[in-house]
Amino acid sequence: MSRSSPDNAGSEPRPSERPWPRRETRSVSVGGVRIGGGAPLSVQTMTKTDTADVRATLAQIERAAAAGADLVRVAVPSLQLVDAFAEIAAASPMPIIADVHFDHRIAVECARAGAHKLRINPGNIGDDDRLAAVIEAAAEAGIPIRVGVNSGSLEPDLLERHGGVTADALAESAVRTVERMQRLGFEHLVVSIKGAEVPMTVAANRAFAGRSDLPLHLGITEAGFGRAAAVRSAAGLAILLADGIGDTLRVSMTDPPEDEVEVAIYLLRSLDLREGPWVISCPTCGRCQVDLPPLAREVAEALRELNAPLKVAVMGCEVNGPGEARQADVGLAAGRGRAVIFARGEPLRTVPIDSAVAALMQEARRIAEDMPDAQGQQ
Ligand code: SF4
Repeated sequence: MSRSSPDNAGSEPRPSERPWPRRETRSVSVGGVRIGGGAPLSVQTMTKTDTADVRATLAQIERAAAAGADLVRVAVPSLQLVDAFAEIAAASPMPIIADVHFDHRIAVECARAGAHKLRINPGNIGDDDRLAAVIEAAAEAGIPIRVGVNSGSLEPDLLERHGGVTADALAESAVRTVERMQRLGFEHLVVSIKGAEVPMTVAANRAFAGRSDLPLHLGITEAGFGRAAAVRSAAGLAILLADGIGDTLRVSMTDPPEDEVEVAIYLLRSLDLREGPWVISCPTCGRCQVDLPPLAREVAEALRELNAPLKVAVMGCEVNGPGEARQADVGLAAGRGRAVIFARGEPLRTVPIDSAVAALMQEARRIAEDMPDAQGQQ
């Protein structure tokens, strides 16, 4: 999978082909990657290394970029780390977001040090003078700010009025935060709202989306790790995306950033919100005569070189496989020691199993070349 170009964060099917209309939002630019205003949904991740370790952080960013990330966020927990952040920002292959809490001076310095966006929680950044200093630095650097609210940052009067943490209270807190930024003269905003649970996050984002046209950053906070985290994130994000809500997203997982990116991209492709190759391997059954999982993984790995929206089938038997995968552009149906290469359900030729992936990729490249707009996407 190739890295996105800054001017085109991912690619989406043409509007007329989209299964669900996107909410109309304002647009901001993060180092050339547009968020909102109909731009393709961008995929974000966050580094998990010590920010002081520039080499390790850049290596992680490179891996996230290779996996298809469009934007990366780096935590800057102290003023002493701004120099390291500047070094990372200068060498990063994709736009970089400074994640700052509590100390407004860090946000100011990060804006001056090459951040393409700031992520702050105005609730913990201090009084209006401090927030105004951050806004001034962002305006001078020409960068947007993401403001986030979450269940832990709700104002006491909202907690009292809404009887605790509720979706409406979160949405109202977000509206209030935006109004505070706007009163201080700043409009280049992205908003994120995260509840403690998936249903509350969904409801709060829906409520805010009904009251504002600012772009939304989606995420399910503290989703956990591995498959459970992937499913939990996908469950929440898919509901919002199907509502047309969301302009950029992060799948938060305890796992490495590239895993977060992979899950996000599979989610977007599953909803036809991002184009790219897709392996449709069969679940296997008693008819299967090869070890199919490693073969499917090898095909998925080989397909990373292509950007085209190809459906590629990897099927476990020669007899049923091609017919079952009729909707695939190209595929292989494995038998004992050999495989049938087929396109749109019709057999093309039979090859030894050892050369099956190479033969499949030959056909895949040929078909991808004929696909309109396939080059340069994503
Ligand atoms: S393609 Fe063949 S092996 Fe795979 S599930 Fe269908 S019948 Fe079973």
